[in-house]
Amino acid sequence: MTSRVTIVGGGLAGCEAAWQLARRGVAVDLHEMRPVRGTPVHQTADLAELVCSNSLRGNALDQAAGLLKEEMRRLGSLIVQVADAVKVPAGSALAVDRGLFARKVTEAVSSLPEVTLHRSEITAIPEGEVVIVATGPLTSEALAAQVAAFVGQDHLYFYDAVSPVVEAESIDFDRAFKASRYGRGGDDYVNCPLTAEEYLTFHRELTGAESATVKDFEREFFFEGCLPVEVIASRGEDTLRFGPMKPVGLTDPRTGRRPYAVVQLRQDDLAASHYSVVGFQTQLKWGEQKRVFQLIPALHQAEFVRFGMIHRNTYINSPAVLTACFEARTRPGLFFAGQMSGVEGYVESAASGLLAGVSAAGRARREAPVAFPIDTALGALGRYISASDPTHYQPTNIAFGLLPELPARVRDKARRRMAISERALRSLDAFALELQSRDGGPLRAMSAG
Ligand SMILES: Cc1cc2nc3c(=O)[nH]c(=O)nc-3n(C[C@H](O)[C@H](O)[C@H](O)COP(=O)(O)OP(=O)(O)OC[C@H]3O[C@@H](n4cnc5c(N)ncnc54)[C@H](O)[C@@H]3O)c2cc1C
Repeated sequence: MTSRVTIVGGGLAGCEAAWQLARRGVAVDLHEMRPVRGTPVHQTADLAELVCSNSLRGNALDQAAGLLKEEMRRLGSLIVQVADAVKVPAGSALAVDRGLFARKVTEAVSSLPEVTLHRSEITAIPEGEVVIVATGPLTSEALAAQVAAFVGQDHLYFYDAVSPVVEAESIDFDRAFKASRYGRGGDDYVNCPLTAEEYLTFHRELTGAESATVKDFEREFFFEGCLPVEVIASRGEDTLRFGPMKPVGLTDPRTGRRPYAVVQLRQDDLAASHYSVVGFQTQLKWGEQKRVFQLIPALHQAEFVRFGMIHRNTYINSPAVLTACFEARTRPGLFFAGQMSGVEGYVESAASGLLAGVSAAGRARREAPVAFPIDTALGALGRYISASDPTHYQPTNIAFGLLPELPARVRDKARRRMAISERALRSLDAFALELQSRDGGPLRAMSAG
């Protein structure tokens, strides 16, 4: 006997999960609240509406987003299949005709005999044996309150204040030093000192830089604990030196003195290859972030893995709540997917839907889910959301830094990335065979788009 699966949320994650379940012959009830109830940003009643950019980012294998999409392609992903079918010219990125994309996904999901689509708001986590909650960054209030009750109030967040993240090897360590404030906590932080002159230049450029447009619904999330760095700077010349750039408790070993101002970087991923700029959540345009933050001497050649932002986002502190299969530790059979599960981005949301869908199919057959290998991009996402430090958890895009290092160091970055991708695809292909035997043979071929 195979259980029916309930999915809440017909976005990128929910549709991908429904597709993966249907491919495995599992019946699905998919609940989407639009158009009965809207969100502050969605404009149509289509499933999988892309609410902002039309880009699904890089498509080449030396880009982490390209590797993730290729893995999904090999596993018959609906979202990637439709994106490939409706792509528009965008250089090495995969960008789509947004309207056509959502319409094609809606058609594909609605025509699946296994899927029953309900247009209704769900206000509590359903009781069923196998359930996937994939209600996204704009989860309706009633359900969000129930999710908070399930995971614990401290483990559900409603906004995302993201500081920029830089590649470790692009930091100029001749102009930085490792230390914790007052020597407490070892060498956990990389400190980037500024002289008075450097600080004043930085302050002037930061306060004059161009911000991205802030939508009204996002304004409410500006409260004192989470102000954009440029807003703190605009309140006076020294406010940063008493805030995120305070130098107290730090001595620069090269001068033996306390610097005039300091920017601190904290390790951001499990592999120590990424550092986030502490307290630098920002709404500056991406080009401006690069220009202004490169004025910090140790970051003059910084490569940005991710730019800063502040936006509405409902997500759980996943390392405290979920396994690498996106399943709740305290309730087997309950999965979270999409932004809600602590990943970031269209492709990552769809990827988590794929992972939750595959695992939920196992649960529907009363089998325990198996995590993907961690040297694949899909497995690395599962590892990130389940094994990161829950005290500083922040959702992430896929990045090569989340996958294990190669056994031997390859100096050239492009070659290193290709080697990681090739290893990932070999590992994925082997794992796909294992999945196939669990699924009882090759899956039904299904095409969309
Ligand atoms: C303003 C904004 C802009 C963004 N821009 C980008 C971008 O440019 N690029 C990028 O990669 N990522 C972007 N993201 C992040 C993220 O990738 C997208 O939000 C993505 O759509 C998340 O996929 P999802 O499946 O988790 O959620 P969604 O695609 O939002 O799907 C969730 C679905 O659940 C439904 N729902 C909510 N509550 C309920 C309920 N109680 N009952 C039933 N249905 C419900 C919603 O109507 C929605 O259709 C943005 C996020 C926001 C908020």
